[in-house]
Amino acid sequence: MNFWSRYRELIASNLSKETVPEIKGVDYWRDKLFYVIVVYTLPVCMIAYIPAMAICYYLDQTAIAFYDSLAIVLIVLVTFSKRLSLRCRKLIYVFTLYLLSVSLLYYMGAYGPGLLYLLSTVIFVSLIYSSKLAYWCILINTVICLLFALGMQLQVMDSAMVTIYTPEAWLAVASNQVLLSILFAASIQMLTSGFTQTLEKESSLKENIKNEVIESARLVKELKIKNEEMEQFTYIASHDLQEPLNTILGITEVLKLPSARNAARDFEKGLDYISFSVERLKMLIKGLLDYSRIGRQLAFEEVRCEEVIRNVASDLRSAVSESGAKLIIDESVRDMDRVAVFPLDFNQLFQNLISNAIKFRSPTVKPVIEVSVKERSDFYEFLIKDNGIGIDKDNLDKIFIIFKRAHSDTAYQGTGIGLAFCKKIVELHGGKIWVESKAGSGSSFYFTISRHLAK
Ligand code: ADP
Repeated sequence: MNFWSRYRELIASNLSKETVPEIKGVDYWRDKLFYVIVVYTLPVCMIAYIPAMAICYYLDQTAIAFYDSLAIVLIVLVTFSKRLSLRCRKLIYVFTLYLLSVSLLYYMGAYGPGLLYLLSTVIFVSLIYSSKLAYWCILINTVICLLFALGMQLQVMDSAMVTIYTPEAWLAVASNQVLLSILFAASIQMLTSGFTQTLEKESSLKENIKNEVIESARLVKELKIKNEEMEQFTYIASHDLQEPLNTILGITEVLKLPSARNAARDFEKGLDYISFSVERLKMLIKGLLDYSRIGRQLAFEEVRCEEVIRNVASDLRSAVSESGAKLIIDESVRDMDRVAVFPLDFNQLFQNLISNAIKFRSPTVKPVIEVSVKERSDFYEFLIKDNGIGIDKDNLDKIFIIFKRAHSDTAYQGTGIGLAFCKKIVELHGGKIWVESKAGSGSSFYFTISRHLAK
């Protein structure tokens, strides 16, 4: 890397802000412009400084030599200091311009350089601050010019200006500087306001595109879930629902046989099978309907989880007392803040998990069910732990699919819909559900829900 690049990099690191804004507005570009101005100021100053010092020596202008040197020191500070804030650097820079203009006017007596520096304060302030501040600069410059005129008039200044020019001539020249300053401030203001409008339009366009991308990603995700649901539904319609229908069909075929018509006992048994299958079909269809209805509730509500669990326990009181189950609500749940949820669905979630923990209890020990929660930065992680019959590892993922069961229909009645419900409800709350278990050693059902769902 050559010297110039290293020099620029050093200034960039001194002047850089910790964070670059996502949308680079006018203020960002003003700071960037200040960086460019700082990069070029020192080399340009050095080119002017060396001959200026020689002239000062020959003309015996020690005061100007002193103020020029002071200006160089200040510019070095602005350029190389590691500690100064950007605001402070800008202030020192503008102060240096004023120092140069006033010292040149006072000690040199010539209008040109001093007035040029006054004009440059207005231009720089318009560029690195704002046009509003630039108008204040014009006011300060006018006051400076008037003070010089007053000093000349009253002959109180020990300045080269007083001896060389009349106040009228000075005011005539100085007024040009003021007029030019107004012209510059106004045109830079127009330029920046046009630039601001373009940037605002661009950033609102970017924001719209970003929102649309997020929205379409959400829609794609939703569509994927719906598609998976549809596939499951097709599978269910063709397999699970056909099973009881096939049974009914088989039995009616048998009942048509003359032997069955004659044997009244076989006929009755057949009818019993039919009504059992029809009942089961009804249950499955109702389950499917309920499943498709999850998520219709539109409004979030802030609830206390402990209260939800206590309500569920009260709804399940006959199963609880019959089994002698003990429900422990951990301190972590009791201490929780309110959470925003779809209340009916959230209630159903706990109801399914707790009633399963009671239903799939061990025949030898009384059920103990413990509900606890861990608060993570973006979500809550709940755990419903039981000491029941457990689930063998081949079935751990399957049981969340609708109608899939890990235990036989005869030993434990059910439709296999409950956990599919839970999965859908948890996903509706921006979370996921899983289980850790081993056959014979209890189950731990985990689920998460987002903490930012209603925000
Ligand atoms: P259902 O309870 O009607 O069978 P679910 O969808 O609630 O349907 O559960 C699916 C299967 O997951 C159950 O049939 C059972 O095999 C298994 N299961 C659910 N909860 C538990 C539990 N706490 N302990 C052991 N097995 C469970």
